[in-house]
Amino acid sequence: MTPRLHPQHSRNGAAPPVDLPALEVQHLSVTYEHTRALDDVSFVVAPGERTAVIGPNGAGKSTLLKTLVGLIHPTSGAIRVKGHVHTQCSAVAYVPQRVQVDWSFPVSVWDVVMLGRTAHIGLFRSPGKRDREQVQHSLELVRMSDLARRQIGELSGGQQQRVFIARALAQDAFVLLLDEPMTGLDVRAQDEVLRVVDNIHQNGVTVLVATHDLQQAADVRHYERVLLLNQRLIGTGSARNVLTAENLAAAYGGHLHRVETEQGVLLLHDSH
Ligand code: ADP
Repeated sequence: MTPRLHPQHSRNGAAPPVDLPALEVQHLSVTYEHTRALDDVSFVVAPGERTAVIGPNGAGKSTLLKTLVGLIHPTSGAIRVKGHVHTQCSAVAYVPQRVQVDWSFPVSVWDVVMLGRTAHIGLFRSPGKRDREQVQHSLELVRMSDLARRQIGELSGGQQQRVFIARALAQDAFVLLLDEPMTGLDVRAQDEVLRVVDNIHQNGVTVLVATHDLQQAADVRHYERVLLLNQRLIGTGSARNVLTAENLAAAYGGHLHRVETEQGVLLLHDSH
Protein backbone atom coordinates (compact mmCIF):
# COMPACT_ATOMS: atom_id res chain seq x y z
CA MET A 1 0.00 0.00 0.00
CA THR A 2 1.33 3.47 -0.80
CA PRO A 3 1.65 5.41 2.44
CA ARG A 4 -0.25 8.67 2.63
CA LEU A 5 1.12 11.85 4.04
CA HIS A 6 -0.83 14.03 6.43
CA PRO A 7 -4.46 14.39 5.22
CA GLN A 8 -3.85 18.02 4.16
CA HIS A 9 -1.62 16.63 1.39
CA SER A 10 -4.01 14.00 0.16
CA ARG A 11 -5.57 14.41 -3.23
CA ASN A 12 -8.24 11.89 -2.33
CA GLY A 13 -8.91 13.28 1.14
CA ALA A 14 -11.24 16.18 1.94
CA ALA A 15 -10.41 18.95 -0.51
CA PRO A 16 -9.60 22.36 0.94
CA PRO A 17 -12.44 24.83 0.31
CA VAL A 18 -10.47 26.90 -2.21
CA ASP A 19 -7.59 25.52 -4.27
CA LEU A 20 -5.16 28.35 -3.59
CA PRO A 21 -1.83 28.37 -5.42
CA ALA A 22 0.82 26.41 -3.54
CA LEU A 23 3.26 29.26 -4.14
CA GLU A 24 2.87 32.86 -5.23
CA VAL A 25 6.02 34.86 -5.76
CA GLN A 26 5.65 38.57 -6.46
CA HIS A 27 8.40 40.94 -7.62
CA LEU A 28 11.10 39.04 -5.74
CA SER A 29 14.59 40.54 -5.77
CA VAL A 30 17.64 39.34 -3.86
CA THR A 31 20.97 41.18 -3.67
CA TYR A 32 24.09 39.82 -1.92
CA GLU A 33 26.25 42.79 -0.94
CA HIS A 34 27.12 43.83 -4.51
CA THR A 35 25.62 41.01 -6.60
CA ARG A 36 22.02 41.06 -7.72
CA ALA A 37 21.07 37.35 -7.81
CA LEU A 38 17.34 37.70 -8.54
CA ASP A 39 15.64 40.65 -10.18
CA ASP A 40 11.88 41.22 -10.01
CA VAL A 41 10.88 37.55 -10.28
CA SER A 42 7.13 36.75 -10.20
CA PHE A 43 5.39 33.39 -10.74
CA VAL A 44 2.63 31.14 -9.44
CA VAL A 45 2.79 27.36 -8.89
CA ALA A 46 -0.40 25.29 -8.63
CA PRO A 47 -0.80 22.70 -5.85
CA GLY A 48 0.86 19.37 -6.63
CA GLU A 49 2.82 20.60 -9.64
CA ARG A 50 6.38 19.45 -10.31
CA THR A 51 8.52 22.37 -11.48
CA ALA A 52 12.05 22.18 -12.88
CA VAL A 53 13.99 25.36 -12.08
CA ILE A 54 16.59 25.81 -14.80
CA GLY A 55 19.09 28.40 -15.98
CA PRO A 56 22.86 28.70 -16.44
CA ASN A 57 25.37 28.67 -13.56
CA GLY A 58 24.88 31.73 -11.38
CA ALA A 59 21.32 32.27 -12.70
CA GLY A 60 19.94 32.41 -9.15
CA LYS A 61 18.39 28.91 -8.88
CA SER A 62 19.83 28.14 -5.42
CA THR A 63 19.12 31.67 -4.26
CA LEU A 64 15.48 31.29 -5.30
CA LEU A 65 15.05 28.02 -3.36
CA LYS A 66 16.83 29.36 -0.27
CA THR A 67 14.65 32.48 -0.34
CA LEU A 68 11.48 30.40 -0.71
CA VAL A 69 12.35 28.39 2.40
CA GLY A 70 13.30 31.51 4.37
CA LEU A 71 17.09 30.97 4.62
CA ILE A 72 17.69 34.21 2.70
CA HIS A 73 15.68 37.38 3.17
CA PRO A 74 14.59 39.01 -0.08
CA THR A 75 15.67 42.57 -0.76
CA SER A 76 12.11 43.20 -1.94
CA GLY A 77 9.03 41.30 -3.01
CA ALA A 78 6.59 38.88 -1.39
CA ILE A 79 6.12 35.12 -1.12
CA ARG A 80 2.80 33.49 -0.31
CA VAL A 81 2.40 29.81 0.52
CA LYS A 82 -1.21 28.62 0.15
CA GLY A 83 -2.31 32.25 0.33
CA HIS A 84 -0.41 33.03 3.55
CA VAL A 85 2.46 35.48 3.70
CA HIS A 86 5.49 33.29 4.13
CA THR A 87 7.89 33.60 7.00
CA GLN A 88 10.09 30.63 7.92
CA CYS A 89 7.74 27.77 8.69
CA SER A 90 7.46 24.03 8.25
CA ALA A 91 5.09 24.29 5.24
CA VAL A 92 8.10 24.59 2.91
CA ALA A 93 11.02 22.14 3.15
CA TYR A 94 14.42 22.44 1.50
CA VAL A 95 16.91 19.70 0.61
CA PRO A 96 20.36 21.27 0.07
CA GLN A 97 22.94 20.12 -2.43
CA ARG A 98 24.71 16.97 -1.17
CA VAL A 99 28.09 18.70 -1.00
CA GLN A 100 26.74 20.97 1.75
CA VAL A 101 26.17 18.06 4.19
CA ASP A 102 28.72 16.41 6.53
CA TRP A 103 28.21 12.69 5.84
CA SER A 104 30.75 11.49 8.41
CA PHE A 105 28.44 12.50 11.27
CA PRO A 106 27.53 9.24 13.13
CA VAL A 107 23.75 9.14 12.91
CA SER A 108 21.25 6.58 11.63
CA VAL A 109 18.83 7.02 8.74
CA TRP A 110 15.89 6.92 11.18
CA ASP A 111 17.41 9.68 13.35
CA VAL A 112 18.10 11.93 10.34
CA VAL A 113 14.49 11.63 9.23
CA MET A 114 13.24 12.19 12.80
CA LEU A 115 15.12 15.53 12.75
CA GLY A 116 12.46 16.65 10.29
CA ARG A 117 9.94 16.40 13.15
CA THR A 118 11.82 18.85 15.42
CA ALA A 119 9.43 21.74 14.80
CA HIS A 120 6.46 19.52 15.73
CA ILE A 121 8.04 17.81 18.75
CA GLY A 122 9.67 20.87 20.34
CA LEU A 123 13.00 20.79 22.16
CA PHE A 124 11.91 19.26 25.47
CA ARG A 125 9.58 16.43 24.40
CA SER A 126 10.28 12.96 23.08
CA PRO A 127 8.89 11.82 19.73
CA GLY A 128 5.34 10.47 19.99
CA LYS A 129 3.39 7.89 17.98
CA ARG A 130 2.45 10.39 15.28
CA ASP A 131 6.10 11.42 14.87
CA ARG A 132 7.22 7.81 14.49
CA GLU A 133 4.42 7.09 12.01
CA GLN A 134 5.34 10.11 9.94
CA VAL A 135 9.01 9.07 9.87
CA GLN A 136 7.97 5.58 8.80
CA HIS A 137 5.69 6.95 6.04
CA SER A 138 8.38 9.29 4.76
CA LEU A 139 10.91 6.44 4.61
CA GLU A 140 8.42 4.29 2.69
CA LEU A 141 7.80 7.11 0.20
CA VAL A 142 11.51 7.33 -0.60
CA ARG A 143 11.81 3.50 -0.52
CA MET A 144 14.35 3.48 2.32
CA SER A 145 12.47 1.67 5.17
CA ASP A 146 14.75 -1.37 4.93
CA LEU A 147 17.81 0.72 5.70
CA ALA A 148 16.34 2.72 8.62
CA ARG A 149 19.01 1.54 11.11
CA ARG A 150 22.01 2.17 8.84
CA GLN A 151 24.47 4.98 9.53
CA ILE A 152 24.09 7.65 6.85
CA GLY A 153 27.82 7.56 6.08
CA GLU A 154 27.43 3.94 4.89
CA LEU A 155 24.87 4.79 2.20
CA SER A 156 25.38 5.41 -1.50
CA GLY A 157 24.97 8.97 -2.80
CA GLY A 158 21.49 8.25 -4.18
CA GLN A 159 20.36 6.67 -0.90
CA GLN A 160 21.68 9.64 1.08
CA GLN A 161 19.74 11.97 -1.19
CA ARG A 162 16.55 9.97 -0.58
CA VAL A 163 17.08 10.09 3.21
CA PHE A 164 17.29 13.86 3.06
CA ILE A 165 14.13 13.98 0.98
CA ALA A 166 12.45 11.80 3.65
CA ARG A 167 13.60 14.22 6.37
CA ALA A 168 11.96 17.08 4.47
CA LEU A 169 8.75 15.06 4.01
CA ALA A 170 8.65 14.17 7.72
CA GLN A 171 8.40 17.89 8.37
CA ASP A 172 4.82 17.72 6.94
CA ALA A 173 5.71 20.23 4.26
CA PHE A 174 3.41 20.68 1.30
CA VAL A 175 6.07 22.42 -0.79
CA LEU A 176 9.36 20.57 -1.25
CA LEU A 177 12.44 22.27 -2.72
CA LEU A 178 15.29 20.09 -4.04
CA ASP A 179 18.59 21.76 -4.94
CA GLU A 180 20.40 19.86 -7.72
CA PRO A 181 19.38 16.44 -6.30
CA MET A 182 20.85 14.49 -9.24
CA THR A 183 24.31 16.05 -9.20
CA GLY A 184 27.04 13.45 -8.76
CA LEU A 185 24.62 10.49 -9.05
CA ASP A 186 24.87 7.77 -11.70
CA VAL A 187 21.97 7.24 -14.10
CA ARG A 188 20.36 4.49 -11.98
CA ALA A 189 20.49 6.57 -8.80
CA GLN A 190 19.07 9.54 -10.74
CA ASP A 191 16.16 7.37 -11.92
CA GLU A 192 15.50 6.33 -8.30
CA VAL A 193 15.35 9.99 -7.23
CA LEU A 194 13.00 10.75 -10.14
CA ARG A 195 10.76 7.85 -9.03
CA VAL A 196 10.73 9.27 -5.53
CA VAL A 197 9.75 12.71 -6.89
CA ASP A 198 6.92 11.01 -8.81
CA ASN A 199 5.80 9.26 -5.60
CA ILE A 200 5.76 12.52 -3.70
CA HIS A 201 3.84 14.17 -6.52
CA GLN A 202 1.26 11.33 -6.36
CA ASN A 203 0.80 12.28 -2.70
CA GLY A 204 -0.12 15.84 -3.66
CA VAL A 205 3.10 17.57 -2.53
CA THR A 206 4.29 20.48 -4.70
CA VAL A 207 7.91 19.97 -5.77
CA LEU A 208 10.45 22.44 -7.19
CA VAL A 209 13.71 20.92 -8.42
CA ALA A 210 16.72 23.08 -9.35
CA THR A 211 18.61 21.25 -12.06
CA HIS A 212 21.19 21.89 -14.74
CA ASP A 213 19.94 18.86 -16.71
CA LEU A 214 17.85 20.58 -19.37
CA GLN A 215 16.90 17.35 -21.05
CA GLN A 216 15.40 15.95 -17.86
CA ALA A 217 13.67 19.26 -17.17
CA ALA A 218 12.06 19.21 -20.61
CA ASP A 219 10.68 15.68 -20.12
CA VAL A 220 6.92 16.02 -19.67
CA ARG A 221 6.79 12.67 -17.82
CA HIS A 222 8.69 14.23 -14.91
CA TYR A 223 7.73 17.91 -14.79
CA GLU A 224 4.52 19.79 -15.50
CA ARG A 225 6.27 23.16 -15.43
CA VAL A 226 9.67 24.64 -16.11
CA LEU A 227 10.87 27.94 -14.73
CA LEU A 228 13.70 29.44 -16.76
CA LEU A 229 15.83 31.93 -14.84
CA ASN A 230 18.75 34.12 -15.57
CA GLN A 231 18.60 36.58 -12.72
CA ARG A 232 15.25 37.66 -14.18
CA LEU A 233 12.47 35.19 -14.95
CA ILE A 234 12.73 34.42 -18.65
CA GLY A 235 9.69 32.19 -18.79
CA THR A 236 7.51 29.73 -16.88
CA GLY A 237 4.93 27.20 -18.05
CA SER A 238 5.11 24.00 -20.10
CA ALA A 239 8.54 23.03 -21.49
CA ARG A 240 7.16 23.40 -25.01
CA ASN A 241 6.10 27.01 -24.42
CA VAL A 242 9.07 28.10 -22.34
CA LEU A 243 11.98 26.42 -24.10
CA THR A 244 11.67 28.47 -27.26
CA ALA A 245 14.71 29.41 -29.32
CA GLU A 246 14.30 33.00 -28.16
CA ASN A 247 14.13 32.15 -24.45
CA LEU A 248 17.05 29.71 -24.69
CA ALA A 249 19.15 32.37 -26.39
CA ALA A 250 18.20 34.86 -23.65
CA ALA A 251 19.31 32.40 -20.93
CA TYR A 252 22.25 30.56 -22.47
CA GLY A 253 23.37 32.65 -25.42
CA GLY A 254 23.09 31.12 -28.89
CA HIS A 255 24.56 27.70 -28.02
CA LEU A 256 21.40 25.63 -27.52
CA HIS A 257 19.01 24.42 -30.20
CA ARG A 258 15.61 22.82 -29.75
CA VAL A 259 14.05 19.84 -31.52
CA GLU A 260 10.45 18.73 -30.78
CA THR A 261 9.98 15.02 -29.93
CA GLU A 262 7.09 12.92 -28.56
CA GLN A 263 8.62 13.01 -25.05
CA GLY A 264 8.91 16.77 -25.16
CA VAL A 265 11.54 19.16 -26.38
CA LEU A 266 15.04 17.89 -27.18
CA LEU A 267 17.82 20.39 -26.56
CA LEU A 268 21.10 20.17 -28.42
CA HIS A 269 24.27 21.99 -27.54
CA ASP A 270 26.53 23.34 -30.31
CA SER A 271 29.17 20.78 -29.33
CA HIS A 272 26.83 17.89 -30.32
P1 ADP B 1 22.74 29.07 -9.40
O1 ADP B 1 22.17 28.22 -8.30
O2 ADP B 1 21.78 29.28 -10.52
O3 ADP B 1 24.08 28.61 -9.89
P2 ADP B 1 23.16 31.01 -7.29
O4 ADP B 1 21.86 31.31 -6.70
O5 ADP B 1 24.07 30.07 -6.55
O6 ADP B 1 22.97 30.54 -8.80
O7 ADP B 1 23.97 32.37 -7.48
C1 ADP B 1 23.40 33.52 -8.10
C2 ADP B 1 24.40 34.67 -8.03
O8 ADP B 1 24.59 35.07 -6.68
C3 ADP B 1 25.78 34.31 -8.57
O9 ADP B 1 26.32 35.45 -9.20
C4 ADP B 1 26.56 33.98 -7.31
O10 ADP B 1 27.94 34.23 -7.48
C5 ADP B 1 25.95 34.96 -6.28
N1 ADP B 1 25.96 34.40 -4.92
C6 ADP B 1 25.40 33.24 -4.52
N2 ADP B 1 25.55 33.08 -3.18
C7 ADP B 1 26.24 34.17 -2.74
C8 ADP B 1 26.71 34.61 -1.46
N3 ADP B 1 26.49 33.86 -0.36
N4 ADP B 1 27.36 35.78 -1.40
C9 ADP B 1 27.57 36.54 -2.50
N5 ADP B 1 27.14 36.21 -3.73
C10 ADP B 1 26.49 35.03 -3.85
